Amino acid sequence: MKRAIFIERDGILNYYRFKNNYPIPPTCPAELRIKTDAIPLIRSLKSSGFTLIVITNQPGISRGYMFWRDLDLIHKRLKEEFLLDDIFICPHDENDGCNCRKPKIGLFVEAIYKWQIKINESIIISDKWQDAQVARMLCCLSILINSPWIANCRHDLLVPNLASAVEKINQIKANNFFCNRIEDSKHIRFVIGDA
Ligand SMILES: [Zn+2]
Repeated sequence: MKRAIFIERDGILNYYRFKNNYPIPPTCPAELRIKTDAIPLIRSLKSSGFTLIVITNQPGISRGYMFWRDLDLIHKRLKEEFLLDDIFICPHDENDGCNCRKPKIGLFVEAIYKWQIKINESIIISDKWQDAQVARMLCCLSILINSPWIANCRHDLLVPNLASAVEKINQIKANNFFCNRIEDSKHIRFVIGDA
């Protein structure tokens, strides 16, 4: 069984583009601007023994403004730069009714099965509320990087940037952490305990 870091793509590994003040992901390799500061940070997590898995919503496929070929090329580049083990994609739109568009957990379940992931010893890093919600449902630690997209969601840790997130992970890892799910009639909550 492996420990994984699940990573949101846009805003963490690459920059958004802005169109009419609205953030949009790159739709072809020429539009991809990698966050180079993130490369050594993400690679260090790999060196620490985590399996690196990106899970991303890319509704541009369903909406018809992005081609699979271009998305594959973008992901090939991201895998090479960040030494990612895998990338899982939801290509659907909100109205498609799929089971994989975050905050649904479909792609995470697929990744857990494929890579034999010990989910309660894994971590989700994101700058969006959807991923924190997934973490809660899966009993997995969430680290949110502050952004305009975190809303008022429940999260475990909130940090200002990716460097702080990696620092937290190194601290937690030293304590051999795992997430415990504690349920009573009213609440489900998660604590970090010692393994
Ligand atoms: Zn989907």
